[in-house]
Amino acid sequence: IVKLEDVHLSFGQTEVLKGIDLTINKGDAVSIIGPSGSGKSTILRCINALVTPQSGKITVAGTRVDQLTKESERIQLRKRVGIVFQQYNLFPHLTVLDNIVLAPTKILGADRTATVKLARELLEKVRLSEKADAYPGQLSGGQQQRVAIARALAMKPELVLFDEVTSALDPETVGEVLWVIRDLIRDGMTSILVTHEMRFAEEISDTVVFTENGRIVDHGSPQQIFHTTDNPRIRQFVGGLS
Ligand code: ATP
Ligand code: MG
Repeated sequence: IVKLEDVHLSFGQTEVLKGIDLTINKGDAVSIIGPSGSGKSTILRCINALVTPQSGKITVAGTRVDQLTKESERIQLRKRVGIVFQQYNLFPHLTVLDNIVLAPTKILGADRTATVKLARELLEKVRLSEKADAYPGQLSGGQQQRVAIARALAMKPELVLFDEVTSALDPETVGEVLWVIRDLIRDGMTSILVTHEMRFAEEISDTVVFTENGRIVDHGSPQQIFHTTDNPRIRQFVGGLS
């Protein structure tokens, strides 16, 4: 469902992606790990057409993302690829329910009654049914992030990208967000996660990708990357896990 082939991307003089090859099948959960500045977020942003590489091919659900020239085409793609960031960016003046209902009704033109029903189902899925009428400011960070996930799912995306969605949370609320993502993956949602939660990545991933300095240094099963790799750099990075 996602294929990157020899993707090169520079910001000004700095080459940030130096030939990325990555294939992700429908239903897979792929974790991207690696040091800060290695290009993890940039890979996600390429897949979602938030940045365009200078060379290489990117195919997402049949669309050649690198060849999209119009903003309208990029918006079309983003309707099909959900993304959840570290900062949840909920609308503070809207209730939880309205935060979820907004995009499908405004952007997809979905029927409001049906979308409200969907939003309530999604709130149940992220275990926040009782917060439908609350405002974001009344929720904890973990609860807000779960609303942000429900909001992404309300667009019925074909895949979801998660960029360090638990990094801004206090340790006590990290778990509740990870449970929600684990459920989603178990339901078969194609997911790409940039994460520092190594144990979580080990548990839920079909494939783990290790990036450093704009390149994919290695990829493989969680067992390979976290336990049996010969690469000293990866062993050092994943540290005490094995
Ligand atoms: P982190 O773990 O800190 O989030 P990352 O692996 O996600 O890091 P990226 O955000 O992909 O790394 O950034 C890769 C490199 O590209 C960094 O050196 C960063 O400074 C640079 N970079 C990212 N976005 C831009 C931009 N819009 N303009 C210029 N440089 C950028
Ligand atoms: Mg990042």
